Amino acid sequence: MNTTKLLILDRDGTINVDSDEYIKSPAEWSAIPGSLEAIARLNHAGWHVVVVTNQSGLGRGVFEVSDLNAIHSLMHHKLAEHGGRIDAVFYCPHTPDDACQCRKPQPGLLQAVAQRYGVALEGIPVVGDHLRDLVAATSVGCEPHLVLTGKGAAYKGRPLPETFPSNTRVHEDLAAFADFLIAREDAALAAQADLSAARK
Ligand SMILES: [Mg+2]
Ligand SMILES: [Zn+2]
Repeated sequence: MNTTKLLILDRDGTINVDSDEYIKSPAEWSAIPGSLEAIARLNHAGWHVVVVTNQSGLGRGVFEVSDLNAIHSLMHHKLAEHGGRIDAVFYCPHTPDDACQCRKPQPGLLQAVAQRYGVALEGIPVVGDHLRDLVAATSVGCEPHLVLTGKGAAYKGRPLPETFPSNTRVHEDLAAFADFLIAREDAALAAQADLSAARK
């Protein structure tokens, strides 16, 4: 069983506003309203947050690693202003043509997280706005959460296609996911407290 409370987030469309033209510079990065506050709330509830992101713009030569580092510096800085922290960012630099093992829906990045943190992936919440995030998640036993921001906005007000994992939980945005996770844990703790009170 995992003792570390770890959760894994997609980046584009989940934390920040997505762009079909790629996020190529810090100037193009902007947080989805409420997402940074949500990460900070999760941190305060004891969750370590790791980001796992496909960045094929690198492989396509649209931007450089130095640009990506600058974007992530900004993300960390903005998050720190809200009292939050992302422990690490794992990215896939490849294009689909590279047929790598790390570009989601492949689970390579998730496996790299597990290795780095010495945790089992089973049951770890993974949050993303795209089918491929959730396919990667369920292929290694993680718990799939879809946010209806970014690409996920296409599923607002309608049932999910059957291509989605059947245990996918849907949340309006990252803030709603944080509400869900914190409330679920509070309920579990309260149930434990009831149980131990009943034993006395
Ligand atoms: Mg995304
Ligand atoms: Zn890759």
